[in-house]
Amino acid sequence: MISLRVCAVCHKKAPKEEFLRVVRVGDEYVVDLTYKVNGRGAYICREGGCVESAKKKNALKRSFKAFVPDEAYEELAKYGKPKD
Ligand SMILES: [Zn+2]
Repeated sequence: MISLRVCAVCHKKAPKEEFLRVVRVGDEYVVDLTYKVNGRGAYICREGGCVESAKKKNALKRSFKAFVPDEAYEELAKYGKPKD
């Protein structure tokens, strides 16, 4: 069975490969391309503009119930594909 993940921004459900995973490691937020890093994680669509929306809406703050610095979103932006 494929376990589905939910995008923190648009709430789309899909297999994890369609998402970028952000994990909180100590006080830092890292993009986990292996999906294996231990810790609380959040998923955001790679495509379709969710990465940009995440920053505008501060969607990760809700997922992690904590302040998420801009650097975390900038890190995500390196991997996300912007909407054309
Ligand atoms: Zn999404």
